[in-house]
Amino acid sequence: MIFFIFFSSFFIPDEKRCLHGVPEEGSGTDLDGGEGMKVLRNTILPVEGFVAINLFGVAFVRKGSWDSLSGEQKEKMLRHEAIHTAQMKELFFFGFYVAYFFEWLFRLVLDNGNAYRNLSFEKEAYRNEGDPLYLEKRRHFAQWRKPLRAPGSVR
Ligand SMILES: [Zn+2]
Repeated sequence: MIFFIFFSSFFIPDEKRCLHGVPEEGSGTDLDGGEGMKVLRNTILPVEGFVAINLFGVAFVRKGSWDSLSGEQKEKMLRHEAIHTAQMKELFFFGFYVAYFFEWLFRLVLDNGNAYRNLSFEKEAYRNEGDPLYLEKRRHFAQWRKPLRAPGSVR
């Protein structure tokens, strides 16, 4: 099963739109730049209080909290998750979860209370989630490199 999920994520077609939830009009098609996210809208994952989680390249979004987002917020969130997918592929998925977990543990001890936001994986995703073209210019292992431009600047 795990291997099925693992391999299938390489073969998910690059949809030029997302499958559920995101309005198709407007800039909805800018979502991917070739990194379309498969979206599964459901009532179980992620746990309450969270809106989306990326498991092996598939975005699980929580009904209700997801539905209350604007189209723009959804796009941003899916771009964020697509950045995580790019990080995962480079680390063969399991490496991502291992590195993510240990970095989180490490920061939990060192960074009082900001472990999640300070994770290198999250910093890259939050910094670039507003840029529809980011994945086209992303360098490998960008989460561990210095950002190319100042945080907050767009395009
Ligand atoms: Zn994230």
